[in-house]
Amino acid sequence: MWELVSGQAGPDEGRRLTMVMEQLDELYREVILDHFKNPTHSGELADAQVKAEGNNPLCGDEMAFHLRVDNGHIQQVRFRGKGCAISQAAASMFSQQLEGKTVPEVFRLIEAMKGLMQGQEPDPSLDLGDLEALAGVRKFPVRVKCAALSWNVVEQGLKEYGERSEVRRQQSDRTKSGL
Ligand code: ZN
Repeated sequence: MWELVSGQAGPDEGRRLTMVMEQLDELYREVILDHFKNPTHSGELADAQVKAEGNNPLCGDEMAFHLRVDNGHIQQVRFRGKGCAISQAAASMFSQQLEGKTVPEVFRLIEAMKGLMQGQEPDPSLDLGDLEALAGVRKFPVRVKCAALSWNVVEQGLKEYGERSEVRRQQSDRTKSGL
């Protein structure tokens, strides 16, 4: 796609595109550093329905997420982590997007982030907020795992939560039907 555009537009257009990317990178860097220095949603939730943790052994990043889920909505999010700036900033940016979303909406966001890391343009109807700054990370495959740690942990936690809820629902159905 990019090759096609720059090929048709000539070398000047290609250079202009490179300059734009460099400027974007500067902006991305600032957003990432700001979240790293002043993370949002840092902490723990004693009454969380979802508690999940994971690590990225390639870099030594560690991450734990607590989510309070009520009536299918993410009510509150907190995280605790250790590691590099990308992993910790990603957790802060990702947390910002979770509160108020339904569980299926969170899965949709996670798919969009996985796609973004592979160079796919996200659905324009999805608001990624500051997470868009992580698009710059995909040029560095080793750092993609740092960024992805947060949504991999939350995805795992929500899947386990979904399975537990399904088991409870089946048990209560059996009780109601007297089996
Ligand atoms: Zn890292």
